[in-house]
Amino acid sequence: MTAIVWIRRSLREYDNTALVEASKEHEEVIPFYVVDEEYFSEASLGYPRVKFWRESLIELKESLQDSGQDLVVRKGKTIKQLRKIIGETGAEELYFNRDYSSYARQRDEEAMELDVDVKTFKDIVMFEKEEILTNSGTPYKVYTYYSKKWFKKEKGRPQKVEDYEVPEIESNNIPDLKQLGFERPNDFEWNWSPGRKGGLERLEAFKDKIMDYDEDRDYAWKDATSRLSPHLKFGTVSIREVFWEAERIKARNPNEDTSGVKTWQEELAWRDFYFQMLYNFPESREEALQEQFRSIDWRQKSEARDLWEAWINGRTGFPFVDAGMRQLKKTGWMHNRLRMVVTSFACKDLWLDWHDVHDYFNENFVDAEIASMIGGIQWAYSIGTDAQPYFRVFNPWTQGEKYDPDGEYIRKWVPELEDVQDEYIHRPHKMNQIAQRESDCIIGEDYPRPVVDHDERREEAVKRFEEARED
Ligand SMILES: Cc1cc2nc3c(=O)[nH]c(=O)nc-3n(C[C@H](O)[C@H](O)[C@H](O)COP(=O)(O)OP(=O)(O)OC[C@H]3O[C@@H](n4cnc5c(N)ncnc54)[C@H](O)[C@@H]3O)c2cc1C
Repeated sequence: MTAIVWIRRSLREYDNTALVEASKEHEEVIPFYVVDEEYFSEASLGYPRVKFWRESLIELKESLQDSGQDLVVRKGKTIKQLRKIIGETGAEELYFNRDYSSYARQRDEEAMELDVDVKTFKDIVMFEKEEILTNSGTPYKVYTYYSKKWFKKEKGRPQKVEDYEVPEIESNNIPDLKQLGFERPNDFEWNWSPGRKGGLERLEAFKDKIMDYDEDRDYAWKDATSRLSPHLKFGTVSIREVFWEAERIKARNPNEDTSGVKTWQEELAWRDFYFQMLYNFPESREEALQEQFRSIDWRQKSEARDLWEAWINGRTGFPFVDAGMRQLKKTGWMHNRLRMVVTSFACKDLWLDWHDVHDYFNENFVDAEIASMIGGIQWAYSIGTDAQPYFRVFNPWTQGEKYDPDGEYIRKWVPELEDVQDEYIHRPHKMNQIAQRESDCIIGEDYPRPVVDHDERREEAVKRFEEARED
């Protein structure tokens, strides 16, 4: 009996649950991937993510071929291609790993209707759907309590696939980026190693930093986080293997303070938390989770062109914010502290519509993950269920002073501020004429004045949130 394993976002063989389970039951297994070109023109995708995905897919195919297997790739409409391969091969079972966004769930429901036995598996998260519920049986909306149960609950271990054979079947080429409609943006620096090899290298490199994660993770200028997010997004490493790798580090250091390792695992729990939020509250993709803030009249980017352009191009005159937005534009990734700061700024200082912010991130993040992104945006916008309270407004200057005290991160991403003296690096608009000339940075010419008055905007934002609550 032949089984098809429909691979989507778990681009690896090791511990790929659907593949592992199929290999236990079947001698003949067909790892199968559909490239739906229409999806590439419709979804808001961008160069970094598509490049990462494509190179990871190619690496998977090559590594399977090296071990005598293959990945059968077909181009076309997903369900049609699945139906076709089932017909061609007479496969009796279809295996795949579950996914949780509305788009994925609808697609997967269609696949369930195919004339074949369908088996689906949990793979991309540690705990899914309703596995962790409150004592009264409802989904958690607050992370702290959720995470307590997450840590206590028994977790799956990584598994190896068993031997299987892949029959010889025609496979299509994986289209290149141009064919898919993507070109490298001007000035873009590609510094990722996609694929499993790249993911394992990242994990290995991070082992030297994980003990200090607790202390260092918030400092934007330190390279102190794992940068595994695109690898977890595309499943080139599995959630189980990274969790258990961290556990091994704790076990090997019984006499040391391993709170850094625990804090890192907390982030994996946040990831699961947001996945279950998206699954249980799919409306959060479009609407604020806090009903009282659904009526807020955000400013769309078309109504605030200048502010929008200043924000996306890192030219707001707030150096820490600008550094974050430029890091994103140039590399497809942004440090978590900056994701919070720039999003809070888009909300409380610029009053930009969070849907526009979402679409921009979705297009530009190499690791764009709807669940974590919606969770992160609604947190910073104070409209999620476990969010930053609306009256607690990040100060974009003091955030920089605290998390980038010497301005190292700012100088790296905003080169026109490179020679600005330390005392002005967070507020370059305060420089007098002499200081501006000495630092080769004329405010209003080389670097903009602040586009808004932060104190005024903060007051205005709080007022608007309060009005929305009273409505
Ligand atoms: C506005 C906003 C948008 C975000 N959008 C995304 C997104 O599209 N994709 C994404 O993967 N993460 C997103 N995050 C969460 C977080 O910023 C990134 O996961 C993290 O910066 C990735 O870097 P890292 O791999 O070095 O993380 P590490 O600090 O090494 O953390 C390890 C892993 O844990 C997960 N993780 C870490 N922090 C969070 C978090 N706050 N929420 C959920 N998962 C987390 C990620 O998978 C990450 O790779 C967003 C956060 C905010 C505030």
